[in-house]
Amino acid sequence: MAPSVAIIGAGFGGLCMAIQLERAGIRSYTVFEKAAGLGGTWRDNNYPGAGCDIPSHLYSYSFEKYASWSRRYPEQPEILAYLEHCADKYDARRKIRFNTEVRRAAFDDARWQVTTAHPEGGGEHTEAFDVVVISVGQLSRPRFPGLPGMADFEGVSYHSARWNHDHDLTGRRVAVIGNGSSAAQLIPRVAEQAEHLDVFQRTPNWVIPKPDAAFGPPARLAFRLVPGLQRAYREWIYRYAEATLYPALAQGWSADLLRKRALRHLRDQVPDPVLRAKLTPAYPPGCKRVIIDSSFYPALTRPNVDVVTDRIVRVAPKGVETAEGLREADTIVYATGFRSTEFLAPMEISGRGGRSLEEQWKDGAEAYLGISVPNFPNMFLLYGPNTNLGHNSIVFMLECQVDHVMACLPHLSLNGPIEVRPEAMAAWRGRLDAAMERMVWGGGCQSWYKTAEGRVTNNWPGPTTLYRRLTARPPIPAYRPAGSSSGPVRTVDP
Ligand code: NAP
Repeated sequence: MAPSVAIIGAGFGGLCMAIQLERAGIRSYTVFEKAAGLGGTWRDNNYPGAGCDIPSHLYSYSFEKYASWSRRYPEQPEILAYLEHCADKYDARRKIRFNTEVRRAAFDDARWQVTTAHPEGGGEHTEAFDVVVISVGQLSRPRFPGLPGMADFEGVSYHSARWNHDHDLTGRRVAVIGNGSSAAQLIPRVAEQAEHLDVFQRTPNWVIPKPDAAFGPPARLAFRLVPGLQRAYREWIYRYAEATLYPALAQGWSADLLRKRALRHLRDQVPDPVLRAKLTPAYPPGCKRVIIDSSFYPALTRPNVDVVTDRIVRVAPKGVETAEGLREADTIVYATGFRSTEFLAPMEISGRGGRSLEEQWKDGAEAYLGISVPNFPNMFLLYGPNTNLGHNSIVFMLECQVDHVMACLPHLSLNGPIEVRPEAMAAWRGRLDAAMERMVWGGGCQSWYKTAEGRVTNNWPGPTTLYRRLTARPPIPAYRPAGSSSGPVRTVDP
């Protein structure tokens, strides 16, 4: 009998899992989604200018090609429409329970007891499943900067991932705190509307151009009609990113080229040497996520925009107070990122023998292949620890993870609950640590890729071709029946 599967989250990952179960004829699954709609980060991040800096044909499922992309780089509404299209085409929408937040998941030595409630409160409900697949993203919980005085601000304030579309910015004095990828996309749009915009920059970022363009009717027709064209185009983008950007992050042959490209972009777009100096980072490109955007710098050069690098002391009722004085504002946008290293929080997850995942991860989250955690049988993570990328498509990684989970399912049907062996986890940790040494993320900068102690818990340090190979291997040698110290997992005939 097919196992029952609880999928937590209906973003790119959860939906991919649901679709692959549907395609395999396994209908015994439920997707729990705390919001009223699907799409995850692409539902939440609907600020003006929101889009993706990975090309459309690669930022999509390999099994669901889409000839209608209107641009080389997709904007948020089109990505969300793509996900809606996929949910409908594969008939997964009927399995999504919206407005249902998972509060707890506890393994009771046979099954997972999943406790849910309406996000706004009300009674809890518990249901048992054989398997849980957790796909809640790394960038789903907004992080506010924790500055003193935020609650006393007399104007309107909100986070970039919770955009207030009812608040018209025309003629306003706006403060944007933060200058990461989200800020870079929204600043050009805000600058066009606001009377004045202060951009509060704590650390400059490296920026390279985004060679965006619309696909005209002939290109779209060709994608629709020419056999293999979409596949070949996707493959070319994938290989190009892997061959050029990955070596830059691994401090290889293209690192210097990336730096030169970014410096040239800065020179080309920012004529003022004082502003240019403010915008020049003092750490190697890639240490923090490189911004891929062609409109950000021009927005910063507008007469109604100031880049403020003075240290913020507090938020005052009438604006933002820096070490140099008050910068008045009637609107504050916190483009201050996400609580990325907390992974599955605030859900309480307990595994075999009541072990708390929070406790097991107190020194930083880790999972075998970023997917499986010792002591947590039949629990699989999508976009888990050390699976984020700075150079290629997360959707590719998600598909690898879903394939691995699908390969595990027949084995757990035969054996009962299975869990990853501690030795496999230890070997994985050793491999990650060794690979991490050559990557650029370690020193010289703070970023959402790592914990406060400096451990990189979010990024995958290898080429994605290697991740594909590792996740495509038969999974069984790494697993054991839940709780057994040595017993082998019986294998299923192919
Ligand atoms: P982020 O990269 O974490 O940036 C947060 C910004 O807020 C940084 O500039 C940070 O400064 C600043 N900040 C945080 N606390 C502050 C404080 N107390 N005082 C002053 N400044 C403070 O967040 P994000 O821009 O939302 O992007 C997160 C990730 O989402 C990206 O790296 C990317 O992976 C993804 N994303 C992707 C796209 C895309 O096109 N694919 C678009 C948007 C987002 P410091 O740098 O000094 O810490």
